[in-house]
Amino acid sequence: MKNINETLEKILQKVTPLIGQGKTAAYIPALANINPNQLGIAICDINGKVYSAGDANTPFSIQSICKVFTLSLALKIYDSDIWQRVGREPSGQKFNSLIQLESEQGIPRNPFINAGALLICDMLESRCSAPNYQLLELLRKLSGNYRIKTDAKVARSEMQHSARNAAVAYLMKSYQNFDNNVETVLESYAHHCAIEMNCIELAKASIYLANKGSSLDSKVQVLSAEHVKKVNAVLATCGLYDASGDFAFRVGLPGKSGVGGGIIAIIPGRYSVCVWSPELNEAGNSLAGTAALELLSQALDSSVF
Ligand code: GLN
Repeated sequence: MKNINETLEKILQKVTPLIGQGKTAAYIPALANINPNQLGIAICDINGKVYSAGDANTPFSIQSICKVFTLSLALKIYDSDIWQRVGREPSGQKFNSLIQLESEQGIPRNPFINAGALLICDMLESRCSAPNYQLLELLRKLSGNYRIKTDAKVARSEMQHSARNAAVAYLMKSYQNFDNNVETVLESYAHHCAIEMNCIELAKASIYLANKGSSLDSKVQVLSAEHVKKVNAVLATCGLYDASGDFAFRVGLPGKSGVGGGIIAIIPGRYSVCVWSPELNEAGNSLAGTAALELLSQALDSSVF
């Protein structure tokens, strides 16, 4: 690729007209009021070179993108035992759906829907002395920014509207698949979702998924190469909720979205990417962000399929 920066600028220009056609996440009031006219993209290669365009330096709420990093922390502790308590099948349902928990006896479909992520937080709570601190420390080390923190206002706003996530957690508890105090785990989850990072930091932080589990400076082996393959497989099939099939079709990369409008995508062996634009489509994924990744994947000829 001759001039990646130029390509990124062009992609952003092309998708800008989509702004105005989606909706910011209304169910968390602190996220609903964000300025929708923001769009940024960053790519990091496995040698640490970063390319970016647009609002790539503006911090945003990472929301469900945190689920990739909490799963990675949990895999390190529990190894493959994780898969006894959470599945690895796409749900085909909204990210905060309860329906399948009832029919599947409290076992969440995958670690990237809310039920699965809450379960992973419960597992971390059982075995980590300070899971919130450990997650922040991991993100700080991987991104190289030691000032990354949680936006307390967003975390509070999510806690004030957490009835559905509480219902999900209690349903799992009723099936004996949730060990800790529900409120404690909900607080921890809300703190993870409310972490603020920008596109450049998130692209750098997720490079281990393109780089056999290793951080850019090789100081942190976040996961084994074997686990990375598995996490990428689950990202490719489940990372964009009930739009995972469409994302595989259009973009063809392992990816994870959040209702803050961020999406990370992995080009195995080559790049990690983060795109951000706050307005979401029906499935809760960034509208302009998905379109930008589709164009980028074409430009880099990087679909894994
Ligand atoms: N904090 C959000 C929630 O639990 C995260 C969801 C998301 O980003 N899809 O509802």
